[in-house]
Amino acid sequence: MSSNRKKVVLIGTGMVGMSFAYAALNQNVCDELVLLDLNEKRAEGEAMDLNHGLAFSPSSMKIYSGGYSDCNDADVVIISAGVNQKPGESRLQLLKRNADVFSSIVPKVVQSGFEGIFLVATNPVDIMTRITYELSGFNASKVIGTGTTLDTARLRYLMGEYFEVDPRNIHAYVIGEHGDSEFVPWSQALLAAKPIKDVLRDNPSSFYMEELEKISEEVRSAAQKIITAKGATYYGIGMAMVRVVRAILQDENSVLTVSTRLRGEYGGKKDVFIGNPCIVNGGGAKRILELKLSEAELKKLDNSCTVLNDSFKSLSL
Ligand code: NAD
Repeated sequence: MSSNRKKVVLIGTGMVGMSFAYAALNQNVCDELVLLDLNEKRAEGEAMDLNHGLAFSPSSMKIYSGGYSDCNDADVVIISAGVNQKPGESRLQLLKRNADVFSSIVPKVVQSGFEGIFLVATNPVDIMTRITYELSGFNASKVIGTGTTLDTARLRYLMGEYFEVDPRNIHAYVIGEHGDSEFVPWSQALLAAKPIKDVLRDNPSSFYMEELEKISEEVRSAAQKIITAKGATYYGIGMAMVRVVRAILQDENSVLTVSTRLRGEYGGKKDVFIGNPCIVNGGGAKRILELKLSEAELKKLDNSCTVLNDSFKSLSL
């Protein structure tokens, strides 16, 4: 960490980036926040707008628009910059364009002398995180993506509603690709200290596995539903980003399903960046928690890894 003052540089001040910034200001997550965008005027305007809310916030954060040299002494650089899908454009074409965007960003951050943690939110987030890792040459522990943190929050909220229990007492995770192949390893889900499968067994006329499967489907399709209703999703992911940044800046050792590079877990899986419970602290992704998955769950994770590897390999960096 550079000093006692916690500094974050946000690259990409669109809806997702600014939802992070607004939540960060209201939750007083850092001391200094630099806004950087290809559209410099936009970053300037956003900094002015946020500064005018300072008097009403619990924070005395220093907020300004800046350039890549500001990354030099930052603790965290967040990338939420990206381009949107054009009509008729395939996922792969979009991925290639976003890879080009990252080629114009990551080397400049590294050249500034930045030695902190990269947090990536741009989609497809697992692949963009891997691209950041490749372009930066950083140790894998210092490059993390938002992964399935938001999906996991959605799952815990919906399970809390179903079981009528505070979501904070639900310990269940969405793992895998942040996308279609993500899944809930139900064998590892707990209500407080009680396995969910035992809760179902002991309450056969109240709770049903079919309902839980519906919940996991609801989580998987949540982003698409929001996009259909209002065009984009941003508040939830902005708050998830604040949660990850706090875990880093406060050196929390919190367990979050960020996207991190597998290092031989799950039967020797390596290189792929994927959402999985991970201990996050000031050094970034400190340690991956390898779950004891069932055979069927392992197959789902295999599938997610294959999807992500195939997409990554289709790019020539
Ligand atoms: P947006 O279009 O509102 O903002 C993107 C911003 O990136 C724009 O301000 C643009 O000027 C900037 N930008 C583009 N190229 C740049 C460059 N080379 N350098 C600096 N800035 C550049 O988009 P958004 O709604 O904020 O979404 C941003 C990304 O977040 C998208 O990829 C979206 O899919 C993703 N997203 C991720 C999650 C998640 O769970 N990880 C959730 C929602 C959205």
